[in-house]
Amino acid sequence: MADLPIDIVKALRAVVGPRGAPLHEPTFSGNEWRYLKECLDTTFVSSVGPFVDQFEQQLANYLGAKHVVAVVNGTAALHVALKIAGVKQNEEVLIPTLTFVATANAVAYCGAVPHFIESSQSPLGLDLNKLRRYLLETTEQNARVCINSKTKRVIRAIVPMHTFGHPVDLQGLMEIASDFNILVVEDAAESLGSTYKGKHTGTFGMMGTLSFNGNKTITTGGGGAIITNEAELAKRAKHLTTTAKIAHQWEFKHDDIGFNYRMPNLNAALGCAQLEELPGILQSKRRLFSKYSEAFSGIDGVTVVGEPLFAKSNFWLQTLLLNKTTENQREKILQATNSAGIMTRPIWFPLDKLKQFKGCPKMRLPVAHSLARRLINIPSSPNLV
Ligand SMILES: *Cc1c(COP(=O)(O)O)cnc(C)c1O
Repeated sequence: MADLPIDIVKALRAVVGPRGAPLHEPTFSGNEWRYLKECLDTTFVSSVGPFVDQFEQQLANYLGAKHVVAVVNGTAALHVALKIAGVKQNEEVLIPTLTFVATANAVAYCGAVPHFIESSQSPLGLDLNKLRRYLLETTEQNARVCINSKTKRVIRAIVPMHTFGHPVDLQGLMEIASDFNILVVEDAAESLGSTYKGKHTGTFGMMGTLSFNGNKTITTGGGGAIITNEAELAKRAKHLTTTAKIAHQWEFKHDDIGFNYRMPNLNAALGCAQLEELPGILQSKRRLFSKYSEAFSGIDGVTVVGEPLFAKSNFWLQTLLLNKTTENQREKILQATNSAGIMTRPIWFPLDKLKQFKGCPKMRLPVAHSLARRLINIPSSPNLV
């Protein structure tokens, strides 16, 4: 009888090598030192300096988006994007229950209520068929506004999340959003470099957001960005994230309750260097996926999560999916791999089960809850290949 945890350790070792590996570490093999030194040499380390503009411009070019606003982290990006989209106190925002807690927190920061939706197994992310049926049965349209028939609250927006870099079916999603009068703000924190039918994730909705945390595809230390094609929204995002200060040579006058969410020049300098490395990082991640697929091809009861047919994933975090016959071994697998120095971890706890979100509205979530018991992230650093 095969011992699954041991087989999994062997397969992972074959890819990551005998010394083991962390889950995800950044690589700094380009101009990082040079650009950071430039900040120190010129004293522009903080909220003023040329790298912020440069990072925003280069990111916009890469994404094929008209505007990018750089901010302190991905959570702040989501908060401001939702606020500018028009999410107000006591409204609802549809989000997957299987996402990082930041997605739900950003909704709560707006005084709004997360409304949890179901995942599909392939691709990971939202189950659009179930979502459409659910909205048909549980909402009504009133003067082009979507109302939750049960809570009577406005459902203002939906935040799709491209789990571990695998895009959701954005065309299908945009159709549902349009049919039900719901705005789309994409949480593309995990999917920089992922495209849907050739177009970058984060550029489909009214706005999209990115994260450049230390474990993401590229990093600025901490950082995030708001993406939009509408000049007015970009202007508003820049204004609100820079304390809503009215531009003036010496006067300090503010015309709104703004936020100090601006990305410092030091972080943007790191971002400019990392952005130059992005094509190479994406190639490495794709090769790593091929290696894992090969290493796991002979092991029953486990598959390596691949990209959807309609998309190109960035393969941010590589992921194993256990099936119903092997899911009861997950703790043992986590134990065996982590003891062997190979860092693995389960996917997030479903947000609808966290105490602070327990009373929130939700669909039936059997697939999301099942996936939450069966997914394991494995070492994914670009320097592994
Ligand atoms: C990383 C991440 C964020 C934002 O994270 P920050 O740490 O605030 O930059 C938001 N949503 C998802 C799904 C993420 O993975």
